[in-house]
This record gives sequence, structure tokens and C-alpha cells, in this order.
Amino acid sequence: AKDAGGTRIQFFSAEMSIETKNRMALELDLRDALERDEFVLHYQPRIRLGDDMACGVEALIRWNHPTKGLIPPNAFIPIAEATGLICKIGSWVLRQACADIQLLVERIGIDLVLSVNVSPVQLKSPTLCSDVRHALEASGMKASDLELELTESGLIEDTDTSHQLLRELCDIGVRLAIDDFGTGYAGIAYLRQYPIDVVKLDRSFLGPSSGTDSTMDFIKAVTEMCHSLGMRVVAEGVEDSNMLQQLVRSSCDEAQGYLFAQPMPLSRLDDFIIDRQAS
Ligand code: C2E
Ligand code: CA
Ligand code: CA
Ligand code: CA
Repeated sequence: AKDAGGTRIQFFSAEMSIETKNRMALELDLRDALERDEFVLHYQPRIRLGDDMACGVEALIRWNHPTKGLIPPNAFIPIAEATGLICKIGSWVLRQACADIQLLVERIGIDLVLSVNVSPVQLKSPTLCSDVRHALEASGMKASDLELELTESGLIEDTDTSHQLLRELCDIGVRLAIDDFGTGYAGIAYLRQYPIDVVKLDRSFLGPSSGTDSTMDFIKAVTEMCHSLGMRVVAEGVEDSNMLQQLVRSSCDEAQGYLFAQPMPLSRLDDFIIDRQAS
């Protein structure tokens, strides 16, 4: 048994060094990725459960790596956060997404709210507010059409800077959403402390054990609480119509997930939005 343990430790450390090497290589490449224009945004529609129409889209970044192909955000956002590169990348995302969606809205004449993910690291950055202002000005998008998705961990690290930053963002007039709600260990007191417009229920609520009575009771209770605080509720990661029906019964406001659409390149987004409007 001791032998097996020893072997496992060796194996494990070999794995780690490969991982470390990969990570270092990615980190080096990541520094030039912005200049080389290697990032792309995909958009996932958000559906309003009242009338089944697409009422918004979430911008989701991918890295089009020259040799490794399309890299998903979970493989490089943590590196970008650790190195601070996330602030420049986040600034690019804001500009690009606002420009993309404002043009689309003007072209097809259908209103959409744009959601952009904001890392906790950006919440500590003094440039976030000016990044938001510039993205709005350059694109011509109304502040109220832009929603910033923040995570619980970003909010409860309640430094003076982040507190003031949120206030400034509110003054600009953008909407604020809590992403991945229910995955953190935060109490929910902060929901009253900040002017939050939207709560996004994490996919893990709707995961394997989902659809059970207790899960649905829970979602119902959370939704009622959010509504009483004046917030709307969006379910993430909705994959089947059973779940959708239960969300409708729980008075959930909007849903997003593979059942409706996967994140897609901008070039395919207009057709989806228009078809959804017509049906
Ligand atoms: P997130 O903000 O929670 O985004 C939702 C993730 O769930 C996306 O993964 C989306 O493709 C995926 N998803 C949507 N519907 C379904 C479904 O029905 N089933 C399943 N299994 N998954 C679904 P993605 O695009 O890989 O993004 C992962 C995470 O990376 C995001 O999680 C977000 O935290 C982060 N991220 C993405 N883009 C950005 C960005 O521009 N800035 C920052 N800071 N983070 C980003
Ligand atoms: Ca999100
Ligand atoms: Ca989420
Ligand atoms: Ca997430």
C-alpha cells in the first residue's frame, strides 16, 4: 500500500510539472494575444419566459490560439486574473461587445440587453469605470442596455475601492447582475447593500439532482425573495424542457442554456434573434 502511495505521488508531481509548463507557455502567449487580435466573442441569447423572445445576450470570450485552436475561457481567464492581464482583456471585451451588439440592434431593430462578465480583479481596478464609459460612448449604446455580471466573491471582498466602484457604475446607469448565484459562501445580506438588478441562478442548481421537489421549492423561494427585493431572476444552463416548465412555474423571469442556443459567433446571432421574434 505504501508503494502504491509513493507511485501515486510521483505520478502526481510529473503531472503537475507538465501542467506548470503548459501554464507558463500559455501565460507567455497570453501577453501578445490582444495585440495579435486572437480573442473572439461568442454570444449566448437570453430568453424571456413571459413571451419566449430573446431579450438579451451574454458575451463569452474565446481565445483563437495560433497553434492550439479555440481555447475556452476557463483555461485562460484564471491565468489572466493571476497576471493582471484580465484588466486589458476585460476592457477589450467591453468595447468589442458594445460595438457588436449596438450595431446589431440598430440593424435588426430589436432591443437587446448586453451582459458582460466582469472579473473580481477588474472590480479592484481604477480603470473599470472609464472602460465602461468609453465602451458606451464609442458604440453609442445606452448605459441601461449594458449589464455587468459580477460574482459573489467579487462583491464580498468589500474593499473601499470596490464599494466606491459599484456606486460609480450605478451612477453611469448600467445594470448589475450577480453571476453564479448560490455557489459562494456569502450570506445574502449583500443583495440589499448593493443596487443589484438581476440574479443569475447557477447551473449547479439545475444540475444532476435538479428537478426534484426540494430543488424546485428552493428555486421558488429564492425567486420570491429576489422579486420582493425588486430583482429579476435568470436561470443559467437550462438544457431540457422539463426544467424549463418548472422554472416557469417558479416564476423565474428569464432563462439561458443549450435548450435555446449555445454561445454562437456574432455572424449567426442576428438570424437567431430574428427567428425567435417571429415564432
Ligand atoms: P459563466 O459566466 O457562468 O457563463 C456560462 C457558461 O456556461 C458558459 O461557458 C456557457 O457556454 C455555459 N453554458 C451555457 N448554457 C449552458 C448549458 O445549457 N449547459 C452547460 N453545461 N453549459 C452552458 P464558457 O463560455 O465556457 O465560459 C465559462 C466561464 O468563463 C464563464 O462562466 C465566465 O465565468 C468566464 N468568462 C467567459 N467570458 C468571460 C469574459 O469576457 N470575462 C471574464 N472575466 N470571464 C469570462
Ligand atoms: Ca456570466
Ligand atoms: Ca454563471
Ligand atoms: Ca462561472
